[in-house]
Amino acid sequence: MSSAPHLLDRLATLTSIRDLELLEFSLLKTVHELFRPEQVTMVKYDDHGEIKFTMRYGHDGCHESLRTKKDQPELLSALRMVRKLKTPYHTKLVNGNNLSAYPIIDFQSLSVCVVIESRRPGSTNDVKIIQGLLQIYRNFCHLLEDAQRDQLTGLLNRKTFDESIQRIIGMSTSLMPSHQQENDRRKHDDGESHYWLGLVDIDDFKRVNDTLGHIYGDEVLLLVSQIMRDSFRESDLLFRFGGEEFVIVTENLDIEGARTAFERFRFAIESFNFPQVGQVTISFGAVKVDSGDVVHAVLDKADKALYHAKQNGKNQVCFYDLLLAKGVIEAPKTTLNQDIELF
Ligand code: GH3
Ligand code: MG
Ligand code: MG
Repeated sequence: MSSAPHLLDRLATLTSIRDLELLEFSLLKTVHELFRPEQVTMVKYDDHGEIKFTMRYGHDGCHESLRTKKDQPELLSALRMVRKLKTPYHTKLVNGNNLSAYPIIDFQSLSVCVVIESRRPGSTNDVKIIQGLLQIYRNFCHLLEDAQRDQLTGLLNRKTFDESIQRIIGMSTSLMPSHQQENDRRKHDDGESHYWLGLVDIDDFKRVNDTLGHIYGDEVLLLVSQIMRDSFRESDLLFRFGGEEFVIVTENLDIEGARTAFERFRFAIESFNFPQVGQVTISFGAVKVDSGDVVHAVLDKADKALYHAKQNGKNQVCFYDLLLAKGVIEAPKTTLNQDIELF
């Protein structure tokens, strides 16, 4: 096959990528370069079956959008078919082009399809190559996903936090879909919305381990993370930060919005009857995150607020800025060049 070296070359590029969005872009580019279709589109669904995101690669380049346009009924009906059949679906469009829709992946709350529109129908060989590429993409998604997540809880792990928090603060993270970043950027420009970071620590967790054993401790961690997932929005970022510490990065208009979100989770934990253990509570240190903030300074503020929550009865959400305004904690000392004084 004359395109074999090119295909291997593209595969080598694909498998060297460690960023999901870049991988998706590269997959579409590869399919487009190999088969020269009119366009190739990736469609992602959320767990309600709603289209969450589309990326289209055509002769005019790559375009991303939040949803497929309503004026593409044929595309939408092909997508419905392929999601029902769960096998590739081929059809002819009224404009005479051929449409092939492929289901790729169903994991966690996500499902993804790829649709290829071309003038000539794909040969059996073409279909096999495309399916092979999509399988490689699927396997890679699993690998990337595994590397980003904590094994016990399935939340994003500390490594992912360290790698991405600066980008989150700078509002250019690959963890939040780029269309969402666009929205976020717009809101921030309008002064409407901000990120809030919550550092969560389970209260008296040592007691669970000491009295019932590590397995019960692990079960509490697992249940806390499940309740966390149910309490926050899909777009919020949830990390297992350390043993029994978690970090939540959420977007909200103001401190009251952030408080409502954090309090909802705190209350859900307080109200849950943990098997054998009974009631478990959590404390929160919360802080507003501004673009350009230094990560360790943000964490330091959250940690100070958390410490205050622990020292003053636990099972509560404390906001750094409010504690500072009340004068119950001191602002970090700054040197002339505004760096935080560490010692
Ligand atoms: P505080 O309210 O002040 O936070 O008290 P605490 O008992 O929660 O705090 P401490 O830091 O003394 O205890 C945390 C405990 O968490 C100690 C450690 O054994 C336990 N731990 C850390 N990681 C894990 C884990 O993965 N599984 C289990 N079962 N326990 C863990
Ligand atoms: Mg702790
Ligand atoms: Mg603790």
